[in-house]
Amino acid sequence: MGTNQSSAKQYVYDVLETITKRNPNETEFHQAAKEILISLVPVMEKYPIYREQGILERITEPERLITFRVPWVDDNGKVQVNRGFRVQFNSTLGPYKGGLRFHPSVNASIIKFLGLEQIFKNALTGQPIGGGKGGSDFDPKGKSDWEIMRFTQSFMTELYRYIGPDIDVPAGDIGVGAREIGYLFGQYKRIRSGNEAGVLTGKGLGYGGSLVRKEATGYGCVYFVNEMLKSKGLDYEGATVVVSGSGNVAIYAMEKAMQFGAKVVACSDSGGFIYDKNGIDLETVRRLKEVERKRISDYTKEHPQAVYVEGCEKIWTIPCDIALPCATQNEIDEASAKLLVANGVKAVGEGANMPSTLEAIDVFLEAGVLFGPGKAANAGGVAVSALEMSQNSMRFSWRFHEVDDKLQEIMKNIYRDSIQASEEFDHPGNLVVGSNIAGFRKVADAMIAQGVI
Ligand code: GLU
Repeated sequence: MGTNQSSAKQYVYDVLETITKRNPNETEFHQAAKEILISLVPVMEKYPIYREQGILERITEPERLITFRVPWVDDNGKVQVNRGFRVQFNSTLGPYKGGLRFHPSVNASIIKFLGLEQIFKNALTGQPIGGGKGGSDFDPKGKSDWEIMRFTQSFMTELYRYIGPDIDVPAGDIGVGAREIGYLFGQYKRIRSGNEAGVLTGKGLGYGGSLVRKEATGYGCVYFVNEMLKSKGLDYEGATVVVSGSGNVAIYAMEKAMQFGAKVVACSDSGGFIYDKNGIDLETVRRLKEVERKRISDYTKEHPQAVYVEGCEKIWTIPCDIALPCATQNEIDEASAKLLVANGVKAVGEGANMPSTLEAIDVFLEAGVLFGPGKAANAGGVAVSALEMSQNSMRFSWRFHEVDDKLQEIMKNIYRDSIQASEEFDHPGNLVVGSNIAGFRKVADAMIAQGVI
């Protein structure tokens, strides 16, 4: 091992150790940092300037992390208190950009892992957006519409101080969809006494939203996987696909995969999964989850040939050609990855953020499975969010096919840039290494240009 190589490796491990010490018990944040930083060893070796400029120390420390109390009154007149978060991680490329997650598991570790991923993902899109993320440990499950509104308004009553169309632009994530964005936008507008459309993305089409935003993460993931398949002369036609989740990402991943000729046989929610050998009926899933806000188990009432199995992680026992994990972090562990490989999976595209554990990723890469990591494969959502910001600034709306064409081009570019980086740094075809390096270099070079700040 050359001196440069060993010292580059040492540098990366020293930074990882500082992260672990400085952020005790934040396991998800450590995991995301480890995946990214290990990929960057060959870059540190080739370009010592990144080390001289302290780029890794700076890029892994958020510019700021805001936490705040969110008090609200439930339908029984009881006072409830949740915790709100916004991490403004990196503003080198543009205003902080990233979604809000409402889920009981939300804590500083989850928000920081998501924020760190977002920096690199946003850079990969090629658009002028920095990295941020936020949310709350509020659990939307079982809450009435009025409770959702009261909580969301209270959340914005504090968050508004820190955001703005040129400062920080939140959007949705798990538990935050069109309804929540509408309430957040209404409350922001009321406090600010003005219509700053570009302060949030994922808005309704009638008040500044963009066509294709709601479909973008799922469609983008399927487009990205299509590029991976094409590189091996494969396609979706006749392929068996398993998609975990049944939220916004999963629904539109299923729709696009079906349009491309695939047969989607399973999807899930946090309670369990459904398997329909005839192919999932998407209209039923959409109505159950988007309109009636019911459980996925209800699908079998209308489709008796389908089976419901409790325990969402068991979805990975179903043999498939293509797996699209679109539910949540760490939903595929080493054992599930081995099972998928044994059952002949050819491609995995991460619609969710960090759905595969580090061990699972190794299993896929060692088995030669085409693997599209989340920060590349699911970047379509935030990419169309940035297009929504552009349209808001122009006070003009593009047509569906115009946004969809731009989305397809962005996903192709991310694939191309990631493959090129993987080749330049001796890991040809490894999109984990490639996407980390391609995203990193865009941010790091701009950080150097802007000085030590
Ligand atoms: N939450 C999405 C993500 O993980 C979208 C963020 C956005 O549109 O700003 O990228």
